[in-house]
Amino acid sequence: MTSTYTDTRLLINNAWCDAASGKTLDVINPATGKPIGKVAHAGIPDLDRALAAAQSGFEAWRKIPANERATTMRKAASLVRERASDIARLMTQEQGKPFPEARGEVLAAADIIEWFADEGRRVYGRIVPSRNLSAQQLVIKEPIGPVAAFTPWNFPVNQIVRKLSAALASGCSFLVKAPEETPASPAGLLQAFVDAGVPPGTVGLVFGDPAEISSYLIPHPVIRKVTFTGSTPVGKQLAALAGQHMKRATMELGGHAPVIVAEDADVALAVKASGGAKFRNAGQVCISPTRFLVHNSIREEFAAALVKHAESLKLGDGLAEGTTLGPLANARRLTAMSKVVDNARATGATVATGGERVGAEGNFFSPTVLTNVSLEADVFNNEPFGPIAAIRGFDRLEDAIAEANRLPFGLAGYAFTKSFRNVHLLSQQMEVGMLWINQPATPSPEMPFGGVKDSGYGSEGGPEAMEAYLVTKAVSVMAV
Ligand code: NAD
Repeated sequence: MTSTYTDTRLLINNAWCDAASGKTLDVINPATGKPIGKVAHAGIPDLDRALAAAQSGFEAWRKIPANERATTMRKAASLVRERASDIARLMTQEQGKPFPEARGEVLAAADIIEWFADEGRRVYGRIVPSRNLSAQQLVIKEPIGPVAAFTPWNFPVNQIVRKLSAALASGCSFLVKAPEETPASPAGLLQAFVDAGVPPGTVGLVFGDPAEISSYLIPHPVIRKVTFTGSTPVGKQLAALAGQHMKRATMELGGHAPVIVAEDADVALAVKASGGAKFRNAGQVCISPTRFLVHNSIREEFAAALVKHAESLKLGDGLAEGTTLGPLANARRLTAMSKVVDNARATGATVATGGERVGAEGNFFSPTVLTNVSLEADVFNNEPFGPIAAIRGFDRLEDAIAEANRLPFGLAGYAFTKSFRNVHLLSQQMEVGMLWINQPATPSPEMPFGGVKDSGYGSEGGPEAMEAYLVTKAVSVMAV
Protein backbone atom coordinates (compact mmCIF):
# COMPACT_ATOMS: atom_id res chain seq x y z
CA MET A 1 0.00 0.00 0.00
CA THR A 2 1.48 3.37 -0.95
CA SER A 3 0.47 6.61 0.59
CA THR A 4 1.27 10.26 0.93
CA TYR A 5 1.69 12.02 4.23
CA THR A 6 0.54 15.55 5.00
CA ASP A 7 2.19 18.22 7.15
CA THR A 8 0.20 19.30 10.22
CA ARG A 9 -0.49 22.85 11.34
CA LEU A 10 -2.16 24.26 14.44
CA LEU A 11 -5.96 24.42 14.60
CA ILE A 12 -7.17 27.70 16.09
CA ASN A 13 -10.68 29.14 15.55
CA ASN A 14 -11.47 26.48 12.92
CA ALA A 15 -8.49 27.57 10.78
CA TRP A 16 -5.23 25.71 10.20
CA CYS A 17 -2.24 27.96 10.75
CA ASP A 18 1.53 27.89 11.14
CA ALA A 19 3.16 28.80 14.43
CA ALA A 20 3.76 32.57 14.68
CA SER A 21 7.49 31.82 14.83
CA GLY A 22 7.28 29.55 11.78
CA LYS A 23 8.96 26.80 13.83
CA THR A 24 8.30 23.16 12.90
CA LEU A 25 9.40 19.70 14.01
CA ASP A 26 10.08 16.70 11.79
CA VAL A 27 7.75 13.71 11.84
CA ILE A 28 9.55 10.38 11.46
CA ASN A 29 8.17 7.15 10.01
CA PRO A 30 9.11 4.50 12.61
CA ALA A 31 9.24 1.81 9.92
CA THR A 32 12.05 3.59 8.07
CA GLY A 33 13.51 6.06 10.57
CA LYS A 34 13.13 8.73 7.88
CA PRO A 35 11.33 12.09 8.06
CA ILE A 36 7.97 12.09 6.27
CA GLY A 37 6.59 15.51 7.14
CA LYS A 38 6.47 18.40 9.54
CA VAL A 39 4.35 19.59 12.42
CA ALA A 40 3.97 23.21 13.56
CA HIS A 41 5.57 23.99 16.93
CA ALA A 42 3.43 26.43 18.93
CA GLY A 43 4.95 29.15 21.09
CA ILE A 44 3.26 31.27 23.79
CA PRO A 45 1.65 33.74 21.31
CA ASP A 46 0.00 30.76 19.54
CA LEU A 47 -1.18 29.36 22.87
CA ASP A 48 -2.67 32.73 23.80
CA ARG A 49 -4.65 32.73 20.57
CA ALA A 50 -5.74 29.13 21.13
CA LEU A 51 -6.87 29.96 24.69
CA ALA A 52 -8.89 32.99 23.56
CA ALA A 53 -10.47 30.77 20.90
CA ALA A 54 -11.28 28.08 23.50
CA GLN A 55 -13.03 30.73 25.64
CA SER A 56 -15.16 32.08 22.80
CA GLY A 57 -15.75 28.54 21.51
CA PHE A 58 -17.05 27.55 24.94
CA GLU A 59 -19.43 30.51 25.07
CA ALA A 60 -20.83 29.58 21.65
CA TRP A 61 -20.97 25.78 22.06
CA ARG A 62 -22.57 25.75 25.52
CA LYS A 63 -25.45 27.88 24.20
CA ILE A 64 -26.34 25.30 21.57
CA PRO A 65 -29.09 22.93 22.82
CA ALA A 66 -27.85 19.45 23.70
CA ASN A 67 -29.84 17.75 20.93
CA GLU A 68 -28.31 20.07 18.31
CA ARG A 69 -24.84 19.46 19.73
CA ALA A 70 -25.56 15.73 19.41
CA THR A 71 -26.54 16.18 15.75
CA THR A 72 -23.26 17.99 15.00
CA MET A 73 -21.26 15.32 16.83
CA ARG A 74 -23.04 12.56 14.92
CA LYS A 75 -22.17 14.34 11.69
CA ALA A 76 -18.51 14.43 12.77
CA ALA A 77 -18.71 10.69 13.53
CA SER A 78 -20.04 10.00 10.01
CA LEU A 79 -17.21 12.01 8.48
CA VAL A 80 -14.64 10.13 10.59
CA ARG A 81 -16.15 6.84 9.42
CA GLU A 82 -16.10 7.96 5.75
CA ARG A 83 -12.48 9.08 6.07
CA ALA A 84 -11.32 6.11 8.19
CA SER A 85 -8.94 4.64 5.62
CA ASP A 86 -7.28 8.00 4.89
CA ILE A 87 -6.83 8.84 8.58
CA ALA A 88 -5.58 5.31 9.29
CA ARG A 89 -2.97 5.51 6.53
CA LEU A 90 -1.60 8.69 8.12
CA MET A 91 -1.59 6.97 11.51
CA THR A 92 0.30 3.91 10.30
CA GLN A 93 2.96 6.07 8.68
CA GLU A 94 3.55 8.20 11.77
CA GLN A 95 2.95 5.64 14.52
CA GLY A 96 3.83 2.30 12.94
CA LYS A 97 0.85 0.09 13.86
CA PRO A 98 -0.47 -2.22 11.13
CA PHE A 99 -3.04 -0.52 8.88
CA PRO A 100 -5.97 -2.78 9.97
CA GLU A 101 -5.29 -1.85 13.63
CA ALA A 102 -5.14 1.85 12.70
CA ARG A 103 -8.38 1.62 10.72
CA GLY A 104 -10.05 -0.23 13.60
CA GLU A 105 -8.97 2.57 15.95
CA VAL A 106 -10.49 5.23 13.70
CA LEU A 107 -13.75 3.32 13.23
CA ALA A 108 -13.97 2.82 17.00
CA ALA A 109 -13.53 6.59 17.36
CA ALA A 110 -16.68 7.17 15.29
CA ASP A 111 -18.55 4.80 17.60
CA ILE A 112 -17.25 6.62 20.70
CA ILE A 113 -18.32 10.02 19.32
CA GLU A 114 -21.84 8.70 18.64
CA TRP A 115 -22.21 7.17 22.09
CA PHE A 116 -21.19 10.39 23.82
CA ALA A 117 -23.33 12.49 21.44
CA ASP A 118 -26.36 10.59 22.71
CA GLU A 119 -25.20 10.65 26.32
CA GLY A 120 -25.04 14.45 26.06
CA ARG A 121 -28.81 14.53 25.56
CA ARG A 122 -29.26 12.93 28.96
CA VAL A 123 -27.33 15.29 31.22
CA TYR A 124 -30.24 15.60 33.62
CA GLY A 125 -30.36 17.57 36.82
CA ARG A 126 -32.98 16.79 39.46
CA ILE A 127 -35.72 18.38 41.53
CA VAL A 128 -35.29 17.82 45.25
CA PRO A 129 -38.36 18.04 47.55
CA SER A 130 -37.96 21.17 49.64
CA ARG A 131 -38.41 21.48 53.40
CA ASN A 132 -40.38 24.64 52.68
CA LEU A 133 -43.28 23.95 50.31
CA SER A 134 -43.04 27.46 48.85
CA ALA A 135 -39.55 26.78 47.56
CA GLN A 136 -38.43 24.66 44.65
CA GLN A 137 -34.99 23.10 44.79
CA LEU A 138 -33.18 22.35 41.56
CA VAL A 139 -29.90 20.60 40.92
CA ILE A 140 -28.47 21.74 37.60
CA LYS A 141 -25.52 20.24 35.73
CA GLU A 142 -23.42 22.66 33.70
CA PRO A 143 -20.31 22.26 31.53
CA ILE A 144 -17.19 22.95 33.56
CA GLY A 145 -15.59 25.17 30.88
CA PRO A 146 -12.67 25.05 28.42
CA VAL A 147 -10.67 21.83 28.71
CA ALA A 148 -6.91 21.37 28.22
CA ALA A 149 -6.04 17.83 27.11
CA PHE A 150 -2.64 16.16 26.74
CA THR A 151 -2.53 12.92 24.82
CA PRO A 152 0.17 10.38 23.86
CA TRP A 153 1.38 8.76 20.67
CA ASN A 154 0.33 5.14 21.19
CA PHE A 155 -3.33 5.63 20.15
CA PRO A 156 -3.16 9.02 18.43
CA VAL A 157 -6.91 9.11 17.71
CA ASN A 158 -8.41 7.00 20.48
CA GLN A 159 -6.63 8.85 23.29
CA ILE A 160 -8.10 12.14 22.05
CA VAL A 161 -11.56 11.03 21.07
CA ARG A 162 -12.61 9.73 24.47
CA LYS A 163 -11.76 13.05 26.09
CA LEU A 164 -13.03 15.17 23.19
CA SER A 165 -16.38 13.39 22.93
CA ALA A 166 -17.18 13.57 26.64
CA ALA A 167 -16.10 17.23 26.77
CA LEU A 168 -18.16 18.28 23.75
CA ALA A 169 -21.19 16.25 24.77
CA SER A 170 -21.11 18.07 28.12
CA GLY A 171 -20.96 21.49 26.41
CA CYS A 172 -17.25 22.22 27.00
CA SER A 173 -14.75 23.50 24.46
CA PHE A 174 -11.63 21.40 23.99
CA LEU A 175 -8.01 22.36 23.37
CA VAL A 176 -5.64 19.44 22.93
CA LYS A 177 -1.88 19.20 22.83
CA ALA A 178 -1.61 16.08 20.78
CA PRO A 179 1.60 14.07 20.28
CA GLU A 180 4.30 15.69 18.17
CA GLU A 181 5.36 12.21 16.93
CA THR A 182 1.89 11.41 15.53
CA PRO A 183 0.18 14.68 14.59
CA ALA A 184 -1.59 14.05 11.27
CA SER A 185 -4.16 11.47 12.35
CA PRO A 186 -5.36 13.67 15.26
CA ALA A 187 -5.63 16.53 12.74
CA GLY A 188 -7.85 14.27 10.60
CA LEU A 189 -10.09 13.64 13.61
CA LEU A 190 -10.46 17.32 14.45
CA GLN A 191 -11.03 18.28 10.82
CA ALA A 192 -14.18 16.15 10.93
CA PHE A 193 -15.56 18.30 13.77
CA VAL A 194 -14.73 21.50 11.89
CA ASP A 195 -16.45 20.13 8.77
CA ALA A 196 -19.44 19.03 10.84
CA GLY A 197 -19.94 22.67 11.84
CA VAL A 198 -18.75 23.21 15.40
CA PRO A 199 -18.44 26.95 16.17
CA PRO A 200 -14.89 28.39 15.89
CA GLY A 201 -12.84 27.67 19.02
CA THR A 202 -14.95 24.68 20.13
CA VAL A 203 -12.03 22.43 19.22
CA GLY A 204 -8.36 23.41 19.04
CA LEU A 205 -5.16 21.50 18.35
CA VAL A 206 -1.61 22.52 19.25
CA PHE A 207 1.82 20.87 19.27
CA GLY A 208 5.15 21.99 20.64
CA ASP A 209 7.22 21.45 23.75
CA PRO A 210 4.97 19.30 26.02
CA ALA A 211 6.35 20.72 29.28
CA GLU A 212 6.15 24.31 28.08
CA ILE A 213 2.56 23.89 26.87
CA SER A 214 1.29 22.08 29.97
CA SER A 215 2.94 24.55 32.34
CA TYR A 216 1.29 27.42 30.44
CA LEU A 217 -2.18 25.96 29.86
CA ILE A 218 -2.87 24.28 33.20
CA PRO A 219 -2.52 27.40 35.39
CA HIS A 220 -4.17 29.65 32.80
CA PRO A 221 -7.47 31.13 34.06
CA VAL A 222 -9.34 30.18 30.84
CA ILE A 223 -8.76 26.46 31.45
CA ARG A 224 -11.18 24.85 33.91
CA LYS A 225 -10.38 21.17 33.44
CA VAL A 226 -7.24 19.18 32.72
CA THR A 227 -7.09 15.68 31.28
CA PHE A 228 -3.90 13.72 30.62
CA THR A 229 -2.97 10.28 29.33
CA GLY A 230 0.64 9.21 29.61
CA SER A 231 3.23 7.98 32.07
CA THR A 232 2.74 8.00 35.84
CA PRO A 233 5.70 10.33 36.60
CA VAL A 234 4.44 13.00 34.16
CA GLY A 235 0.86 12.48 35.36
CA LYS A 236 1.90 13.15 38.95
CA GLN A 237 3.59 16.41 37.91
CA LEU A 238 0.56 17.59 35.95
CA ALA A 239 -1.88 16.54 38.68
CA ALA A 240 0.18 18.52 41.21
CA LEU A 241 0.10 21.59 38.98
CA ALA A 242 -3.64 21.19 38.45
CA GLY A 243 -4.11 20.88 42.22
CA GLN A 244 -2.08 24.01 42.87
CA HIS A 245 -4.41 25.94 40.57
CA MET A 246 -7.61 24.18 41.72
CA LYS A 247 -8.27 22.67 38.30
CA ARG A 248 -10.32 19.49 38.03
CA ALA A 249 -8.16 16.70 36.58
CA THR A 250 -8.50 13.26 35.03
CA MET A 251 -5.33 11.17 34.93
CA GLU A 252 -5.10 8.03 32.78
CA LEU A 253 -1.61 6.76 33.55
CA GLY A 254 0.61 3.73 33.20
CA GLY A 255 -0.35 0.22 34.23
CA HIS A 256 1.37 -3.14 34.49
CA ALA A 257 -1.47 -5.52 33.81
CA PRO A 258 -1.33 -8.91 35.53
CA VAL A 259 -2.72 -11.92 33.68
CA ILE A 260 -3.64 -14.71 36.07
CA VAL A 261 -4.01 -18.09 34.37
CA ALA A 262 -5.53 -20.43 36.94
CA GLU A 263 -5.06 -24.20 37.15
CA ASP A 264 -8.48 -24.81 35.57
CA ALA A 265 -8.07 -22.25 32.74
CA ASP A 266 -8.73 -22.99 29.09
CA VAL A 267 -5.08 -22.62 28.04
CA ALA A 268 -5.82 -22.21 24.32
CA LEU A 269 -8.28 -19.40 25.08
CA ALA A 270 -5.84 -17.76 27.51
CA VAL A 271 -3.06 -17.75 24.90
CA LYS A 272 -5.31 -16.54 22.09
CA ALA A 273 -6.88 -13.75 24.15
CA SER A 274 -3.86 -12.54 26.08
CA GLY A 275 -1.33 -13.20 23.28
CA GLY A 276 -3.43 -11.16 20.85
CA ALA A 277 -3.73 -8.34 23.37
CA LYS A 278 -0.04 -8.51 24.33
CA PHE A 279 1.32 -7.84 20.85
CA ARG A 280 -1.38 -5.44 19.68
CA ASN A 281 0.22 -2.08 18.81
CA ALA A 282 3.57 -3.78 19.60
CA GLY A 283 2.65 -3.83 23.29
CA GLN A 284 2.55 -0.02 23.50
CA VAL A 285 -0.80 -0.07 25.24
CA CYS A 286 -1.55 1.06 28.78
CA ILE A 287 -3.83 -1.96 29.31
CA SER A 288 -1.42 -4.40 27.62
CA PRO A 289 -1.09 -7.74 29.48
CA THR A 290 2.41 -7.64 30.92
CA ARG A 291 2.89 -9.81 34.01
CA PHE A 292 1.79 -13.36 33.19
CA LEU A 293 1.16 -15.37 36.36
CA VAL A 294 0.52 -18.94 35.33
CA HIS A 295 -0.32 -21.92 37.56
CA ASN A 296 2.75 -24.14 37.71
CA SER A 297 0.82 -27.20 36.49
CA ILE A 298 0.21 -25.53 33.09
CA ARG A 299 3.07 -23.02 32.99
CA GLU A 300 5.21 -24.85 30.43
CA GLU A 301 2.25 -25.64 28.16
CA PHE A 302 1.15 -21.99 28.32
CA ALA A 303 4.66 -20.63 27.66
CA ALA A 304 5.18 -22.94 24.67
CA ALA A 305 1.85 -21.87 23.15
CA LEU A 306 2.60 -18.18 23.74
CA VAL A 307 6.01 -18.60 22.08
CA LYS A 308 4.29 -20.25 19.11
CA HIS A 309 1.84 -17.35 18.91
CA ALA A 310 4.68 -14.78 19.08
CA GLU A 311 6.62 -16.56 16.36
CA SER A 312 3.58 -16.62 14.08
CA LEU A 313 3.42 -12.81 13.95
CA LYS A 314 4.57 -11.05 10.81
CA LEU A 315 6.83 -8.13 11.65
CA GLY A 316 6.99 -5.34 9.09
CA ASP A 317 5.92 -1.96 7.79
CA GLY A 318 2.34 -1.41 8.91
CA LEU A 319 1.26 -0.49 5.37
CA ALA A 320 2.59 -3.78 3.92
CA GLU A 321 0.01 -6.48 3.23
CA GLY A 322 -0.12 -9.13 5.97
CA THR A 323 1.87 -7.24 8.64
CA THR A 324 0.60 -8.13 12.11
CA LEU A 325 3.31 -6.44 14.18
CA GLY A 326 4.67 -3.00 13.31
CA PRO A 327 7.76 -1.14 14.52
CA LEU A 328 7.96 0.57 17.90
CA ALA A 329 6.68 4.13 17.68
CA ASN A 330 9.97 5.85 18.42
CA ALA A 331 13.65 5.00 18.64
CA ARG A 332 13.81 5.47 22.45
CA ARG A 333 11.45 2.49 22.87
CA LEU A 334 14.05 0.27 21.11
CA THR A 335 16.69 1.22 23.67
CA ALA A 336 14.16 0.70 26.47
CA MET A 337 13.28 -2.82 25.19
CA SER A 338 16.92 -3.89 24.93
CA LYS A 339 17.50 -2.75 28.52
CA VAL A 340 14.45 -4.68 29.76
CA VAL A 341 15.65 -7.89 28.10
CA ASP A 342 19.27 -7.49 29.29
CA ASN A 343 18.09 -6.90 32.83
CA ALA A 344 15.74 -9.91 32.72
CA ARG A 345 18.57 -12.15 31.51
CA ALA A 346 20.92 -10.82 34.18
CA THR A 347 18.36 -11.60 36.88
CA GLY A 348 17.91 -15.22 35.73
CA ALA A 349 15.16 -15.18 33.10
CA THR A 350 15.19 -17.29 29.95
CA VAL A 351 14.51 -15.57 26.64
CA ALA A 352 12.18 -18.17 25.12
CA THR A 353 11.80 -16.22 21.90
CA GLY A 354 12.72 -12.80 20.49
CA GLY A 355 14.62 -10.34 22.65
CA GLU A 356 16.37 -8.30 20.01
CA ARG A 357 16.15 -5.56 17.47
CA VAL A 358 15.38 -6.73 13.94
CA GLY A 359 17.18 -5.05 11.01
CA ALA A 360 19.16 -1.85 11.04
CA GLU A 361 16.43 0.40 9.64
CA GLY A 362 13.25 1.32 11.51
CA ASN A 363 12.33 0.51 15.12
CA PHE A 364 11.60 -3.21 14.77
CA PHE A 365 11.84 -5.39 17.87
CA SER A 366 11.03 -9.08 17.81
CA PRO A 367 8.02 -10.31 19.80
CA THR A 368 9.54 -11.55 23.03
CA VAL A 369 8.56 -14.12 25.64
CA LEU A 370 10.56 -14.29 28.88
CA THR A 371 10.15 -17.25 31.24
CA ASN A 372 11.30 -17.93 34.82
CA VAL A 373 11.31 -14.20 35.40
CA SER A 374 12.40 -13.16 38.86
CA LEU A 375 10.38 -10.73 40.95
CA GLU A 376 13.43 -8.46 41.05
CA ALA A 377 13.58 -8.17 37.26
CA ASP A 378 12.79 -4.71 35.97
CA VAL A 379 10.14 -6.14 33.66
CA PHE A 380 8.15 -7.38 36.66
CA ASN A 381 8.22 -3.95 38.30
CA ASN A 382 8.05 -1.34 35.54
CA GLU A 383 5.66 -1.37 32.63
CA PRO A 384 7.68 -2.60 29.60
CA PHE A 385 5.41 -0.74 27.13
CA GLY A 386 6.58 -2.94 24.27
CA PRO A 387 6.24 -6.44 22.75
CA ILE A 388 7.51 -8.31 25.81
CA ALA A 389 5.58 -10.94 27.78
CA ALA A 390 7.08 -12.01 31.11
CA ILE A 391 5.97 -15.28 32.70
CA ARG A 392 6.16 -16.54 36.29
CA GLY A 393 4.56 -19.55 37.91
CA PHE A 394 2.37 -19.76 41.03
CA ASP A 395 0.82 -22.51 43.15
CA ARG A 396 -2.01 -20.82 45.07
CA LEU A 397 -4.42 -18.33 43.50
CA GLU A 398 -4.20 -16.18 46.64
CA ASP A 399 -0.45 -15.78 46.00
CA ALA A 400 -1.05 -14.78 42.38
CA ILE A 401 -3.55 -12.13 43.49
CA ALA A 402 -1.08 -10.84 46.09
CA GLU A 403 1.58 -10.58 43.37
CA ALA A 404 -0.89 -8.84 41.02
CA ASN A 405 -1.58 -6.26 43.75
CA ARG A 406 2.06 -5.86 44.80
CA LEU A 407 2.84 -2.96 42.47
CA PRO A 408 1.58 0.60 42.90
CA PHE A 409 -0.23 0.40 39.52
CA GLY A 410 -3.86 -0.63 39.12
CA LEU A 411 -5.14 -0.14 35.59
CA ALA A 412 -6.16 -3.37 33.81
CA GLY A 413 -6.12 -6.99 34.93
CA TYR A 414 -6.91 -10.26 33.18
CA ALA A 415 -7.75 -13.71 34.47
CA PHE A 416 -8.58 -17.09 33.00
CA THR A 417 -10.47 -19.67 35.04
CA LYS A 418 -13.62 -21.77 34.85
CA SER A 419 -14.34 -21.78 38.56
CA PHE A 420 -17.00 -19.53 40.06
CA ARG A 421 -15.07 -19.43 43.34
CA ASN A 422 -12.01 -18.07 41.52
CA VAL A 423 -14.05 -15.49 39.59
CA HIS A 424 -15.58 -14.30 42.85
CA LEU A 425 -12.19 -14.04 44.55
CA LEU A 426 -10.60 -12.24 41.58
CA SER A 427 -13.50 -9.78 41.17
CA GLN A 428 -13.33 -8.89 44.84
CA GLN A 429 -9.60 -8.75 45.39
CA MET A 430 -7.87 -7.49 42.23
CA GLU A 431 -6.80 -3.87 42.74
CA VAL A 432 -7.49 -2.67 39.19
CA GLY A 433 -9.82 -0.26 37.44
CA MET A 434 -10.76 -2.81 34.76
CA LEU A 435 -10.84 -6.59 34.97
CA TRP A 436 -11.42 -8.88 31.99
CA ILE A 437 -12.05 -12.55 32.77
CA ASN A 438 -11.82 -15.26 30.09
CA GLN A 439 -11.57 -12.69 27.33
CA PRO A 440 -9.28 -10.08 25.82
CA ALA A 441 -9.72 -6.44 26.71
CA THR A 442 -12.98 -5.09 25.33
CA PRO A 443 -13.10 -1.41 26.20
CA SER A 444 -16.30 0.24 25.03
CA PRO A 445 -17.61 3.79 25.35
CA GLU A 446 -20.38 2.65 27.69
CA MET A 447 -18.05 1.05 30.24
CA PRO A 448 -15.83 3.02 32.63
CA PHE A 449 -12.19 3.21 31.53
CA GLY A 450 -9.56 4.22 34.06
CA GLY A 451 -7.30 3.10 36.85
CA VAL A 452 -6.76 3.12 40.59
CA LYS A 453 -3.63 3.72 42.70
CA ASP A 454 -0.70 5.12 40.66
CA SER A 455 -2.58 4.42 37.43
CA GLY A 456 -4.54 7.61 37.98
CA TYR A 457 -8.07 8.77 38.66
CA GLY A 458 -11.23 9.55 36.78
CA SER A 459 -12.89 7.57 34.05
CA GLU A 460 -12.97 7.91 30.28
CA GLY A 461 -16.00 5.79 29.61
CA GLY A 462 -19.60 5.43 30.72
CA PRO A 463 -21.65 8.13 32.44
CA GLU A 464 -18.70 8.66 34.82
CA ALA A 465 -16.76 10.15 31.89
CA MET A 466 -19.40 12.85 31.48
CA GLU A 467 -19.34 13.73 35.18
CA ALA A 468 -15.69 14.74 34.79
CA TYR A 469 -16.74 17.63 32.52
CA LEU A 470 -19.74 18.82 34.52
CA VAL A 471 -20.18 21.02 37.55
CA THR A 472 -23.22 21.02 39.81
CA LYS A 473 -25.26 24.06 40.74
CA ALA A 474 -27.86 23.96 43.52
CA VAL A 475 -30.66 26.49 42.94
CA SER A 476 -33.44 27.15 45.38
CA VAL A 477 -36.36 29.37 44.28
CA MET A 478 -38.89 30.77 46.72
CA ALA A 479 -42.33 31.69 45.40
CA VAL A 480 -43.02 35.36 46.24
P1 NAD B 1 7.05 10.37 28.58
O1 NAD B 1 6.75 10.12 29.99
O2 NAD B 1 8.13 11.34 28.24
O3 NAD B 1 5.76 10.89 27.80
C1 NAD B 1 4.50 10.28 27.86
C2 NAD B 1 3.52 11.25 27.22
O4 NAD B 1 3.42 12.42 28.03
C3 NAD B 1 3.96 11.76 25.85
O5 NAD B 1 2.83 11.85 25.03
C4 NAD B 1 4.55 13.14 26.11
O6 NAD B 1 4.39 14.03 25.04
C5 NAD B 1 3.74 13.59 27.29
N1 NAD B 1 4.47 14.49 28.18
C6 NAD B 1 5.72 14.31 28.69
N2 NAD B 1 6.04 15.33 29.51
C7 NAD B 1 4.98 16.17 29.51
C8 NAD B 1 4.70 17.38 30.18
N3 NAD B 1 5.56 17.94 31.04
N4 NAD B 1 3.49 17.96 29.96
C9 NAD B 1 2.59 17.40 29.13
N5 NAD B 1 2.79 16.25 28.48
C10 NAD B 1 3.97 15.63 28.67
O7 NAD B 1 7.36 9.00 27.94
P2 NAD B 1 7.47 8.44 26.45
O8 NAD B 1 8.88 8.08 26.20
O9 NAD B 1 6.76 9.27 25.44
O10 NAD B 1 6.64 7.13 26.69
C11 NAD B 1 7.18 6.17 27.56
C12 NAD B 1 6.30 5.87 28.72
O11 NAD B 1 5.12 6.64 28.76
C13 NAD B 1 5.83 4.44 28.61
O12 NAD B 1 6.73 3.62 29.28
C14 NAD B 1 4.48 4.44 29.23
O13 NAD B 1 4.58 4.10 30.58
C15 NAD B 1 4.02 5.85 29.17
N6 NAD B 1 2.91 6.03 28.21
C16 NAD B 1 1.69 5.69 28.62
C17 NAD B 1 0.62 5.82 27.76
C18 NAD B 1 -0.76 5.43 28.19
O14 NAD B 1 -1.57 5.12 27.34
N7 NAD B 1 -1.07 5.49 29.49
C19 NAD B 1 0.83 6.29 26.47
C20 NAD B 1 2.13 6.65 26.07
C21 NAD B 1 3.17 6.52 26.97
